[in-house]
This record gives sequence, C-alpha cells and structure tokens, in this order.
Amino acid sequence: MKYKRILLKLSGEALMGEKNYGIDSSLLEKYSQQIKNIHDKGIEIAIVIGGGNIYRGIESEKSGINRVQGDYMGMLATLMNSMALQSHLEKLECDTRLMSGFNIDQVCEPFIRRRAIRHLEKGRIVIFGAGLGKPYFTTDSTASLRAVEIEANIVLKGTRVDGVYDSDPEKVKDAVKFNEISFDEAYERNLKIMDMTAFTLCKENNLPIIVFDMNKPGNLIKLVEGKNIGTLIY
Ligand code: UDP
Repeated sequence: MKYKRILLKLSGEALMGEKNYGIDSSLLEKYSQQIKNIHDKGIEIAIVIGGGNIYRGIESEKSGINRVQGDYMGMLATLMNSMALQSHLEKLECDTRLMSGFNIDQVCEPFIRRRAIRHLEKGRIVIFGAGLGKPYFTTDSTASLRAVEIEANIVLKGTRVDGVYDSDPEKVKDAVKFNEISFDEAYERNLKIMDMTAFTLCKENNLPIIVFDMNKPGNLIKLVEGKNIGTLIY
C-alpha cells in the first residue's frame, strides 16, 4: 500500500446524492463499503465530513442568523453527518470512534490528539466531527489541520468531479484536467481547490492532497494502491 495513514475528506454536499437536502443513505452505504475495503488492507483512516447538505454558516446571515451562531449550526450539521457515517461503518462491522471539535459528551468523545493517534494505531476508523469547534473555519481547514496533527501521509479529498481542472468542468466544456500540480502553480492560477486557510496549512507542512471522484466505486482503493487517479497537489 502506498500510504500508512490517510485523512479522507468528504463533502456534505456529496451526501445529498440526487436529493436537494439531507442525507442519501444509499450513498453513505456506498462510501462506507469503499472505506471498509481500504480498512481491510490495513490503512489507518481518519475522516472529516462536511455539513453543506444540511447547513452552511456562511449563508446564515441571509436568514437573519448571526454568522457565529450559524457556524456552530454548521458544525452541528457535520456532527450529524459524522454520526450517520459512523452508523453505516458499524453496520459493516468496522471499529470506529467519533471525536468532536467541541464538547458534546453524551454523543461522542472530544478530540484529543494523542488519543486519536492511539485509535488509529489500534485500527479504529476515526471520524472528526464538529469541525475544529471554532467559527470562521471550514471542514477543509479541519481536514488539513487534523491531518497535520495526526501525521497523515496525505489528504484525500473526495468530490463529485474527478480532479482539478484549469476551469470549472461543470461549466466549461473543454476544461483541461491536471494530473498533478504544485501548490505554487495552483496559487498562481487561482484554482479553487480548498479555501486558503486549508490550502496554506497543507503547503506549509508539505502535506500533499489528492482530489478525486468519490462517487466512482473502486477509486479509493486504487488510490491507496498508488494508482494515478484524480489530481495530486504537492
Ligand atoms: N464550520 C465551522 N468551523 C469548522 C468547520 C465547519 O464554523 O471548523 C461550519 C461552517 O459554518 C461551514 C459548515 O460548518 O459552513 C459546514 O461545513 P463546510 O461548509 O465546510 O461543509 P462542506 O462544504 O464540505 O459540505
């Protein structure tokens, strides 16, 4: 296997599938199966999942909700997605732990770095819910910081597009895909891969990112086997 320890970032939006809101459980089932497949190969897996399918703090002010309040609502949304994913993984008999960025003791344990690493060493899949527990951050920045903290080899950002393009492939017909691109070039070209906080954290800590299509079954396992899929940002 190419990696020992990975951080998998899944967007909340992807969880909607064909729906307009909430969680499409058939997608969660598919994701969980793919995660189990790489877990069976002995990969240590940490997961961060977004909340955009339920609530996004950045949009809260439009509905008369204070931004910080909205961000906490967004963090709760990520926790709900994390709990759903945890259940699906447990159905497949994967050992899991959910760790939260803020205290919510009746639901799960708080994030404690050493403990997270211990869980991973013991082969448990660790899900980081509630983001970093701080407003004005995103789940991309959560993925980057947690990956650095737990010394993951790579951030695998699962999306519904199959990599990074020079323009938006959902809008521009002849957009060109990169197989790999350096952090510096991605900056120069102003490519929107992750928000700046997340991106800078990865760059400064030499933590590579691979953006790939999580909706294509088999992609995740091919990636950890070292096959060339998606776009590598290094
Ligand atoms: N959020 C936050 N701090 C964090 C992580 C998330 O405030 O550390 C909030 C923020 O409001 C964000 C929402 O949670 O809009 C949902 O996360 P995100 O938009 O990153 O999810 P995705 O787009 O990946 O579904």
